[in-house]
Amino acid sequence: MPDVFADLVGQDEAVDTLRRAAAAAAAVLRAAHRPGEDELAALETVDTGVAPGAGGVAPGDPGAGMTHAWIFTGPPGSGRSVAARAFAAALQCVHGTGCGVCPGCHTTLAGTHADVRLVVPEGLSIGVGEMRALVLRAASTPSGGRWQVVVIEDADRLTEAAGNALLKAIEEPPPRTVFLLCAPSTHPDDISVTIRSRCRLVPLRQPPPDAVAEVLARRDGIAPDVARWAAAAAQGHVGRARRLARDPEARKRRDAVLAVPRRLTGVGAAFDAASALIEAAEAEAEASVAETDATERAALETALGAGGTGRGAAGAIRGAAGQLKELEKRQKSRATRAQRDALDRALVDLAGFYRDALTMALRASVAPVHTDTAPLAEAGARKWDAEGALRRLEAVLACRAAIEANVKPRIAVEAMMLALWKG
Ligand SMILES: [Zn+2]
Repeated sequence: MPDVFADLVGQDEAVDTLRRAAAAAAAVLRAAHRPGEDELAALETVDTGVAPGAGGVAPGDPGAGMTHAWIFTGPPGSGRSVAARAFAAALQCVHGTGCGVCPGCHTTLAGTHADVRLVVPEGLSIGVGEMRALVLRAASTPSGGRWQVVVIEDADRLTEAAGNALLKAIEEPPPRTVFLLCAPSTHPDDISVTIRSRCRLVPLRQPPPDAVAEVLARRDGIAPDVARWAAAAAQGHVGRARRLARDPEARKRRDAVLAVPRRLTGVGAAFDAASALIEAAEAEAEASVAETDATERAALETALGAGGTGRGAAGAIRGAAGQLKELEKRQKSRATRAQRDALDRALVDLAGFYRDALTMALRASVAPVHTDTAPLAEAGARKWDAEGALRRLEAVLACRAAIEANVKPRIAVEAMMLALWKG
């Protein structure tokens, strides 16, 4: 039967952990609601992870219980936020541990549950103000009588001050509050060591292409051969695979990126290719945020009473200018992030191409990432040999690392294109 974990592709081990924790959490609530029983004692149980009476769980098994803070890690597209949301739903499930159909599950997955807060950073980082407000609200008693759940997507984008505010809440958690953090890894660059030490870890792996193809076919009704191609091309990124299978524009952008190796015929061509890549990323980002930007601005203007002419309108407009400025700042930050994400997707595609060339030069028996450019990669493998292919792959990865380290994208991409051309 499909439940809240059904969309978590190829993550059997993680799902098992989460189901058991949800069962332990439900047992805690049952114990707390039993008359005559001390709620505090039941919550002690939560902290130690020992869950008497949880379905099929041996008492004293520290790996099976429930705890207040979790970190979901894994490569992009592995389903970190899908896992966190599914677990949130399982905690709010009124029937069991994530049936997928009850109001608790349903509203959590739809993003409308009163006791589930979802933090999706729109800019490049999550600030301390946002985090303090969140921690404060999360301390209130859950209105549905179960748990207050806070899901923080991209916890690696917390500012240091925001991380400290969160740490305080995690160190002394309100009894019914659960924090679910998502981050690429537990490297100190992604999440502070102190926060990490307070959280239970749920590592997700890169789902195998077969599992991704299967879910695209089953859930999204995509033809099996298209699903298989998209799953391989997206390199285990479920959301990207779905977009490639469904969105002709996404396929066109990918084709343009994979045409780059053919186009690098000289210095001028390398600079042209760099410009084209940057501009394509900008255009993609613009398209992805334009609609939200316009809706937000219209909503704010309406709320501020734009167009009013009566007494007080002038004062309202002065106050409004500040709020509009604040909104523009937020939107600009979101646009920058969308651009970086688009450029990063392009670089991952490009890296896949040179990885194909490398594996072919080495005659390794692995399936190519990009089946449609396999002949081109094969030609490259013959021309460059393994060493040349590896150097090019490293140039693409170095470009990603440079942009991550805040080098100006155009400069990093130009350096990469020159390196790809020179070999
Ligand atoms: Zn349910």
